[in-house]
Amino acid sequence: MNIYEETKFLMKKYQISANKNLGQNFLIENSVIQTIVDSANISKEDIVLEIGPGLGTLTKELLQKAKKVIAIELDEKMIQILTDRFCFYDNFELMNQDVLKVDLKKIIEKEQAHENHVKIVANLPYYITTPIIMKLLEEKLPITSITVMVQKEVADRLTAIPGQKDTGAITYCVYYYTEPSKVMIVPSSFFLPAPKVDSEVIHLKIRKKPPVVLKSEEMFFRIIKASFLQRRKTLANGLTNGGICSKNEAKQILEKMNLNENVRGENLTIEQFAQIANFLYEDKKI
Ligand code: SAM
Repeated sequence: MNIYEETKFLMKKYQISANKNLGQNFLIENSVIQTIVDSANISKEDIVLEIGPGLGTLTKELLQKAKKVIAIELDEKMIQILTDRFCFYDNFELMNQDVLKVDLKKIIEKEQAHENHVKIVANLPYYITTPIIMKLLEEKLPITSITVMVQKEVADRLTAIPGQKDTGAITYCVYYYTEPSKVMIVPSSFFLPAPKVDSEVIHLKIRKKPPVVLKSEEMFFRIIKASFLQRRKTLANGLTNGGICSKNEAKQILEKMNLNENVRGENLTIEQFAQIANFLYEDKKI
């Protein structure tokens, strides 16, 4: 049975249809599963955290390669299927939880694994891609990489080079914490049901050390968020409207940095944002 037939078989056997509200688009192409697993570079020493295992297509491969797979799935219907399929594996742990609500650090720390051997792998539910990525990064989890499938357009944003095209606030966040790369584009026809847009697998390698030196991470991210809140506004307006500094202060900083007063946040490199944050931190000592 190939993956497509297996998916059809499981859905019929358990009388389920894909739940759109939970972002259920099941992968039905074997080569993609292989590429995800290969690019995550999983060994028998690795603990893998899988978000949204669904029917278990990717999980099955992960279980062959990893020391242990901890799968977090929200949909109770999937829990029944996953339990039936994998209860005989001694390296499988299943949690019926909302990934946005669980304490991932606690789950990982319980395994007492070295952070070089903890990896996150997922075909993410698209309706909550951004909050999941932000949670994985901001919680500073002891992990080595995140290998995930996301919508192609989102992949462009997550892996863009700060200051160049396709950037958003999340681009800077991803770049600050990781070295991002694209792995493969996945056509929508490789899913059941097919989503409206193509997808892409990306790999985020967690940095050991941030790419810029900051006096205050909090100030750095506040500034970035404020500058992208209203995309068409200038950086100076973003900082002022975000309540970070006065228009005059913003002007002075831009002058010090030889930047045009009409520059927009999306044109700034990560080093320039760091410089602004450090100037403002010195001024305000927040
Ligand atoms: N991994 C499977 C595959 O590749 O075929 C399914 C991927 S599907 C795109 C996303 C999965 O995430 C679904 O199984 C869905 O039920 C699950 N999910 C949705 N919201 C979730 C949440 N908040 N926490 C955990 N799992 C969630």
